[in-house]
Amino acid sequence: MRAMLPPMRWNLIFLFTLGCDELLKDRGGPALDTTDGCVQTGSTGTAEIKVESTREMSGFLLTSKGEHLVAVDEIRDGSDEQVFYWEDWYYLDTNLTSAIWPNTQEMVLNWPIRAEEAPMSEGEWTVVVSAVDGSGVYQAESEICYTIQSKDDDDLEYGEVNIRLVYAEGVGEMEAVTEAINAAILVWEDIWAPMNLLPVVRIENGDFSKDVPYAGDGSEDIYDLTLDSFEDEITMMVGETIDGSTSYLGVAGGIPGTLTANSRSAVVMSWLAGAGSDGVFSPLEINILGETMAHEIGHFMGLFHPVEQTWAMWDACDDTPNCSSESECDTQLGTNLMYPSPVCDVSTCLTQDALSNIQTEILQRYTGTL
Ligand SMILES: [Zn+2]
Repeated sequence: MRAMLPPMRWNLIFLFTLGCDELLKDRGGPALDTTDGCVQTGSTGTAEIKVESTREMSGFLLTSKGEHLVAVDEIRDGSDEQVFYWEDWYYLDTNLTSAIWPNTQEMVLNWPIRAEEAPMSEGEWTVVVSAVDGSGVYQAESEICYTIQSKDDDDLEYGEVNIRLVYAEGVGEMEAVTEAINAAILVWEDIWAPMNLLPVVRIENGDFSKDVPYAGDGSEDIYDLTLDSFEDEITMMVGETIDGSTSYLGVAGGIPGTLTANSRSAVVMSWLAGAGSDGVFSPLEINILGETMAHEIGHFMGLFHPVEQTWAMWDACDDTPNCSSESECDTQLGTNLMYPSPVCDVSTCLTQDALSNIQTEILQRYTGTL
């Protein structure tokens, strides 16, 4: 999305209560292994979730749903060595994962994140999760249910990402829109090709409202729609407006988002915002539409903006510059795919198709990248 993410650990936003343990459709192939369960926090307000790692496992996606707000506290590898601790990141002006912020009852963690994070090793890994209330007070005896999806991906230099693109009611019958989306998918393929990434897009017509929900806030419609997605698919909803507005070109449900169903398990797009004030797609607008699809899916796969629009908070990629003013950032990062907004003058906009090596590492390590 093209707005700032709140950096506070105890920021209470919209709460949405849903069941958490319905599994999605299995392709019947070797795509992902899935396990699930529930744990209860002890007197410290934390609980341990175990991840059994085989020698072949290359990454996992933990999706949790708690009675209270949920965040990750610690990760220990198969030798019980601590490889991640929330406080090492929480007070930095550098964003690695939103899993450390208990903003919602739905916490999503992908591991590893960058190449420098501890890679998976054989053995029993431990993810320590915490339950807290809206004031940041740890909660004992709080239930947290979870799903772990893991991949055996022996090639982290190449990946296909399955996307289920679903049109809102009536939108799939609008030829100008479907033509623009098809052209935008080709733009997206071109953006990803140098990184050896390929979006594999399956398109369907849905019956949800043309005014799609703001995915970051959560919605029962998102949950219901995702139940019909395959277990290795990212769900993308294409509507006319987002939360009643054309202020957003697109919004991702999380950084990262999940492949199983929860209230934020989708990227949403507004075709009308993409088509501009005349409602007709120009070639430039089709380019921006393709960039927006790749940008929002980039968030969903774990990428933050290289700089937020406060110009004082950055991603955890050492190879994206830490600029500190709008003009400096436009110059240094304006062509980056994950730049928070298009950079335009009166006649045209910069092409935003660049991804750094570390940004690419993150995309390749997302559990849905196979
Ligand atoms: Zn964004």
